Amino acid sequence: MSKAVKMKPVRRLVPKKPSNNILKDPVGVYCRVRPLSQDDQECCIEVISETTIQLHPPDGIKVNRNGEFKETQYSFKKVFGINTTQLELFEDVAKPLVDDLLHCKNGLLFTYGVTGSGKTYTMTGSPGQGGLLPRCLNMIFNSIGPYQAKRFVFKTDDKNGMEIQTQVDALLERQKRENQSALIKTPKQRLDPDVADMINIEDACKVEGIDEDSVFAIFVSYIEIYNNYIYDLLEDTPFEPIKPKWNGCGTPMRSTEFIPPQSKILREDQNHNMYVAGCTEVEVKSTEEAFEVFWKGQKKRRIANTQLNRESSRSHSVFIIKLAQAPLDADGDNVLQDKEQICVSQLCLVDLAGSERTHRTKAEGNRLREAGNINQSLMTLRTCIEVLRENQMYGTNKMVPYRDSKVTHLFKNYFDGEGKVRMIVCVNPKADDYEETLLVMRFAEMTQEVEVARPVDRPICGLTPGRRHRNQAFKDELTRKLEERGGPINGDDGSMIDILLQSFPPLPSCELVDPSDEQTLPALIECLEKRQRAREMLIEAFHNQVVKTKSMIQNFEGTVSGKDNIIQEQRAKLSDKDRVILQHKSELDRLEKKTKTLEYKIEILQKTANIYEEDKRALQQELDTKDQKLHRQLSDNRRLEARLQGVASETKIKWEKECERRVAAKQLEMQNKLWVKDEKLKQLKAIVTENKNERPDQPEKPERPSRDKDKVLLRPVTPSPASGEVFRTRGGGQAVQFTDIETLKQESPTGSSRKRRSSGNIPVQQEETTENEWTDVETRCSVAVEMRAGSNLGPGYQHHGLPKRRKP
Ligand code: ADP
Ligand code: MG
Repeated sequence: MSKAVKMKPVRRLVPKKPSNNILKDPVGVYCRVRPLSQDDQECCIEVISETTIQLHPPDGIKVNRNGEFKETQYSFKKVFGINTTQLELFEDVAKPLVDDLLHCKNGLLFTYGVTGSGKTYTMTGSPGQGGLLPRCLNMIFNSIGPYQAKRFVFKTDDKNGMEIQTQVDALLERQKRENQSALIKTPKQRLDPDVADMINIEDACKVEGIDEDSVFAIFVSYIEIYNNYIYDLLEDTPFEPIKPKWNGCGTPMRSTEFIPPQSKILREDQNHNMYVAGCTEVEVKSTEEAFEVFWKGQKKRRIANTQLNRESSRSHSVFIIKLAQAPLDADGDNVLQDKEQICVSQLCLVDLAGSERTHRTKAEGNRLREAGNINQSLMTLRTCIEVLRENQMYGTNKMVPYRDSKVTHLFKNYFDGEGKVRMIVCVNPKADDYEETLLVMRFAEMTQEVEVARPVDRPICGLTPGRRHRNQAFKDELTRKLEERGGPINGDDGSMIDILLQSFPPLPSCELVDPSDEQTLPALIECLEKRQRAREMLIEAFHNQVVKTKSMIQNFEGTVSGKDNIIQEQRAKLSDKDRVILQHKSELDRLEKKTKTLEYKIEILQKTANIYEEDKRALQQELDTKDQKLHRQLSDNRRLEARLQGVASETKIKWEKECERRVAAKQLEMQNKLWVKDEKLKQLKAIVTENKNERPDQPEKPERPSRDKDKVLLRPVTPSPASGEVFRTRGGGQAVQFTDIETLKQESPTGSSRKRRSSGNIPVQQEETTENEWTDVETRCSVAVEMRAGSNLGPGYQHHGLPKRRKP
């Protein structure tokens, strides 16, 4: 608070809508500033707007730690300055509560502040300046005046409930009580002129829209809470011999003539409302009566305080106005005898004890202890408000310590349940009160952050509205008719009889003063005879009337029986129709059941069809996949076949060529060998012949076979019987069996030499030998080789074997 003026944020006074749809309103906090009295010179409060006041620290404590002025502002729902009248305050603060009360809603109004700040002035008022309490009473009775129930129609029970009795019972009870009070009758005191002045309220206001078809009754009770004890201020002091008694806080009484009231306890009723058990509730019928009751309690309070040496500013006083309301019956004449329909609402007007701390009162001993307790109750009030506020603002669920003091416990349901709560903070602007006033302001500001559930409107009873007025109109009309006829209303014949009776000749005087009187008796006789005739006439008329009435009744009975017959017929028809309806209904039921069964079946079938459909789809898919796979496989196979065919034909051609090549190579080799052998043989022959015959001519040199690679020399060879055996094969060819083959060594053009041996009957494959490579091979075959002509080597191909030779 370094600034010169501490600005407070504008308080939220709009009703908040909580999540659970219960409308809540903040506690309405108002501030009333009383005027200074002559001797209090320094003023420390300034009203700066309709809703804000500013506190100036008085001279002594003007400077704070920083040496600055410490002025604070506080905002309320409304601020009432020193010139505010009692009426203005009432209009703004209390009127809505009275309005609520008459509409079956509860209200709580309390004044809070230090002693001397004007709490009592505000609540009760002073002579000529009636406070909120008499004004509330006045408004209530102004509003319900014509609709008040007779005394004792409503009766309070001892459980905070309300009972109702008939007007006759109420009348009897009234008489009984009047008789009782007559016995102990005290002369009715005239109202204290000051008091009369307080309730003499010029501006009579009224609540609009109250239920005119209801009756109302007001009950008041007045209690005082001192030192956390509850006292009933309206309790009748018992007529007992005076005994020494002890007061509530354990101290013996000073006076033996005074019986202090017994303290009361709090109880909770079935609607969770707290009430003072056994507290007197007085039914009052007017503002005067109600205020008189209040004043009686006030006197009692004053006496008790004086007698018990208590400080009145340290007690809380609670004035409870209870309103009972019940609807009229359907005729609008009597109260409906239904306890459930009674609505009870109450307005509590509380004048709290001074909120100042104990040291200020300079109390000592017992009084200090008591004062401490009273402080304690205000402290509890503050704590409750604080916890409530915290719970509401931060969603916590702390226990509110209502039970710690009687005041808070009594008003528990206002904060926990529903109702309208208003507080008037009274402040005295004098400098002495500054510090206490600061505390009051802080509490007041916090209080307006608490929210209370808004009372809901009570549903009105189901009877037709306007009953009271209709009943009244009917009564008025009746009275008017009676007045017109000048007597009770009868039938036409009745009035004729009346007229007849009235037209009877009056009896002459029957006084016989003279025994020789000849006139009186005959005149009397004549008159009586006349009357007798008239009587007979009347009897006859009566009999005629009776006969007429009888015939009328018979006629009527006939008509009635006729109507009865018709009704019977109609009833029979109705029951027939009923039967038909029943049949239709049962048929309908059956059909409905059938429909349901069919629907069920359809549903099942639909489900089955869906399953099948799904299966079908899955199978179709599978089929498609397999088909595709098959197609793929088929085309793969075709490709493979084509490839294999290609490979086979290639291989075949390759092998044919290879075989041809090998055969040609072998042939060439064999021819070469043959040629070499032949050459050798020729040479040998020549040598032999030269030596023997000395032949002069040169022998002819044989031609060596060509080594052309493409040219395969195919020469039919006739095996020599000397070198091998020729025999026929099973295939139709010829074979030569060599016993020995010897190839003479030859030079290869490439220069490489290789030796190959083979054994067995499988021909040796010379894969590495090409056409260009001429290998000199020396082969010895010691096994027989079988050659099958034309079997494997293809057409036009011929084997030729070499003759069996022996190695030299
Ligand atoms: P409290 O009840 O708070 O202790 P009171 O109501 O008894 O205070 O007031 C103390 C005195 O001040 C009384 O004499 C009363 O008449 C007077 N007073 C209080 N408030 C006002 C006011 N607004 N206007 C005039 N006088 C007032
Ligand atoms: Mg007071």
